[in-house]
Amino acid sequence: MNDPIKPSALHTHMFIDGEPTSGAAGKTFPIFNPATAEEIAHIPDATEADIDHAVRTAKRAFESDTWRRMPPSTREHLLLKLADLVEKHTEELAALETLNQGKLLAFSQMLEVSGSVQWLRYMAGWATKIEGTTLDLSIAFPPGTRYNASTRRVPAGVVAAIVPWNFPLLMAVWKIAPVLACGCTVVLKPAEETPLTAIRLAELAHEAGFPPGVFNVVTGRGETAGATLVKHRLVNKVTFTGSTEVGRMIGRQCADDLKRASLELGGKSPVIVLDDCDPRKAIEGAAGAIFFNHGQVCTAGSRLYVARSIYDEVVQGIAAVADGMALGPGFDATTQMGPMVSSRHRDKVVRMIAQGKLEGGEVLSRDAAVDGAGFFVRPTVIANGLRKPLSVVKEEVFGPVLVAMPYDDLDEVLAEANDSEYGLGASVWTNQLDKALRLADGIEAGTVWVNTHNMVDPAMPFGGFKASGIGREHGKAIVDSYTESKSVCIAY
Ligand code: NAD
Repeated sequence: MNDPIKPSALHTHMFIDGEPTSGAAGKTFPIFNPATAEEIAHIPDATEADIDHAVRTAKRAFESDTWRRMPPSTREHLLLKLADLVEKHTEELAALETLNQGKLLAFSQMLEVSGSVQWLRYMAGWATKIEGTTLDLSIAFPPGTRYNASTRRVPAGVVAAIVPWNFPLLMAVWKIAPVLACGCTVVLKPAEETPLTAIRLAELAHEAGFPPGVFNVVTGRGETAGATLVKHRLVNKVTFTGSTEVGRMIGRQCADDLKRASLELGGKSPVIVLDDCDPRKAIEGAAGAIFFNHGQVCTAGSRLYVARSIYDEVVQGIAAVADGMALGPGFDATTQMGPMVSSRHRDKVVRMIAQGKLEGGEVLSRDAAVDGAGFFVRPTVIANGLRKPLSVVKEEVFGPVLVAMPYDDLDEVLAEANDSEYGLGASVWTNQLDKALRLADGIEAGTVWVNTHNMVDPAMPFGGFKASGIGREHGKAIVDSYTESKSVCIAY
């Protein structure tokens, strides 16, 4: 087993104005190692005064010439330097993530850290490619006057970025990299369960040479620190990733304040297996779609629809995969699935499985409950052969719980796939191009994968239809998200 990082090596402060701080009141809350349930550190619980200090600092940094008027190539260079530093600290950041979040160390290295490096490098490039247009105007007066008009994209201002606990470092980078590339300043609030890598990221940004106040991290609870941050009058834009429930509250607050908001929210993504699919490929693909990151993925393939002719074989196969998975700490190289992030979340997942059973779902896999320390839940497959209206089909579990249903024709499965308040992701498994295209066209989701699932790339827009959110991250669209259009009209 790899060595977990020592608690004495943890950085457990907020980071405001280029400096570590414990906050005005010195209040803290504990964070845990979810694989052992041991307390690993105490983290500052930001007060209103701390949030105000962080936002005012970000505002001052935004208004200073050292940041907003910095040549775009210098901003690009700083982001590339940060990418290099994150890469240099791969082992440390990955160990912090596995210790605090519970995920497999290999995934912390390959996805959290390498993914963050990839995103930082991609987004760095946008700093020098933000552009406007020139326009021909038709204004006819005063007679003889002509007009020269152009648009330019200007940074939106102070951005409040709030992220969840499922990919703590990567989600933080998905926010701060484009925000900084666009010339905004940021106050980042990581989830209360998993603040360690966000704190380290801010320290590395300071080391890379970002001016003080440009990138601040506040730690604290959502309903206090998060809500205060969203409401702060000097915040110009809120970018939020988290649950639909909290996203709705933030959306309402931002509408009242007329603040810009982008919301990346929950999902209940369908996986549709067509009758030509090799059952072995379907089993592997569908199991990966739901069990990756212990099911704590917004696009987790949690609703499985399989053509009736291969339904039993595929569903029994996935249950066998689930039963064979080795649960354990993410630092153990033999572990295939780590714990849930917290005892509260573990209890919610177990409760939802029990409710699914009560409503008539047939659990095909082993008992989900796990005795002993750590917040573990066994991967679970629920067959819903009679397609009862189970709550686990409608509601996001955000854990390793799959509900499987047979279907008979394409129109029927398309209607069922779309019969959800969510619309984040979906996947279709087939080699029949016409059917794959019909489903990709008809499914109401921000991303439809064919013969793969959960694949993301900084160049590919990502976001949700319906209650899965508003706005898109990544790709070219990201520039519009963190800039405002300004028209300049000159009479001559
Ligand atoms: P959550 O909504 O409980 O918390 C997310 C963040 O919001 C945390 O930092 C939390 O402290 C903060 N928060 C909570 N209440 C708040 C409030 N009233 N005001 C301001 N901030 C507040 O979500 P979670 O349990 O941490 O994460 C799981 C959810 O995130 C799932 O629904 C999942 O689908 C979603 N998610 C979505 C995406 C996406 O890109 N669409 C990605 C990852 C996770």
